[in-house]
Amino acid sequence: MSASVQSLKLLFVSTSVGPLGSGLGGGVELSVYNIAQEMIRRGHQLQIVAPAGSTWDSLPLIQIPGNLQIIAQSLKRTDPITMPENSVLANMWDYARQVQDNYDLIVNFAYDWLPFYLTPFFRCPIAHFVSMGSLSDALDQIIIQTSKQFPGTLGFYTPSQAATFPELTSPIYYLSSGIDLSLYQFCAEPKQQLAWLGRISPEKALEDAVAVAEITKIPLKIMGKIQDESYWQQICRDFPKSCFEYLGFLPTAQLQQVVRECQALLMTPRWVEAFGNVAIEALACGVPVISYSRGGPAEIVQDGKTGFLVEPDSVAGLVNATQRIHEINRHTCRQQAEEEFSLKALGDRFEKWFKEIIF
Ligand code: UDP
Repeated sequence: MSASVQSLKLLFVSTSVGPLGSGLGGGVELSVYNIAQEMIRRGHQLQIVAPAGSTWDSLPLIQIPGNLQIIAQSLKRTDPITMPENSVLANMWDYARQVQDNYDLIVNFAYDWLPFYLTPFFRCPIAHFVSMGSLSDALDQIIIQTSKQFPGTLGFYTPSQAATFPELTSPIYYLSSGIDLSLYQFCAEPKQQLAWLGRISPEKALEDAVAVAEITKIPLKIMGKIQDESYWQQICRDFPKSCFEYLGFLPTAQLQQVVRECQALLMTPRWVEAFGNVAIEALACGVPVISYSRGGPAEIVQDGKTGFLVEPDSVAGLVNATQRIHEINRHTCRQQAEEEFSLKALGDRFEKWFKEIIF
């Protein structure tokens, strides 16, 4: 059988900061879902290992109990690596160790030290999908070491994300992201409202989007997991409730119903956003993206064509772009999503990476 039609046996080991479907894992949850779905559609054999409590019934999931990892964004760069008692990350990798001979490739989606460290101890090759930019000295060191020892096994969302890690050994794979476009409907005539989507956590700087709503008097619809409750409460204290509405953490079907009726999606990353799945979800609905020109969104948005890229941390820049939003053709936004971010495009990139590691 030729490599191009050969069925691969893949074991995906998920993020360990939350069960799949909880939103705690951020965009990597949607990425795991979409890559898994597309690999199965292509005839590959796939099993996902994820923390207990994961809610994706439509995919083959092994649920592993244990305590969750602390999210890397909440730690300082120089903090040591920590593991809770009865760690779900350790338990998932112990499971992977036991079943490794049934697979051609293990794919790690956890942004954590342990899977990188364990790589040389496994017989089965391990591919690492790195889902965030550099945040921790200890993690940087093991990522760089793995890229030297196992060249080609590291995949990133974008070049600007990978550039935050010093001294990576090539080849480096840029895998971008993709979504099931049939789940997102185009809307030509938006309402007078803006959207903000994502984990509610300081690195996402939601307060800047709320400030835009206050200044422009265009109501802001906020959707996403509240990861930092005190940060959220501070925003509620600082701004009048009239300019924004929090709709909760919504499933894709409901999320796109709200987003598609918005004039624009505001993205306000304070950090180097590795990708920004929410950007392509908005584009798929024909919704332009206004973002700080930083990290993944700066590689996704075509400035002046499918949105606007503005000076990082400039609320005035966001306001100015919001006032020019009628210049963007919403059909062009949907078209960009179709051309660059379909499940097929995503599947082609990942399949090529997997095969280059295996064969
Ligand atoms: N999301 C969601 N429901 C919501 C708001 C957001 O499912 O109400 C998802 C969204 O689809 C996206 C993820 O949350 O996949 C946010 O990911 P992104 O890549 O934008 O940022 P990250 O959290 O990884 O930093």
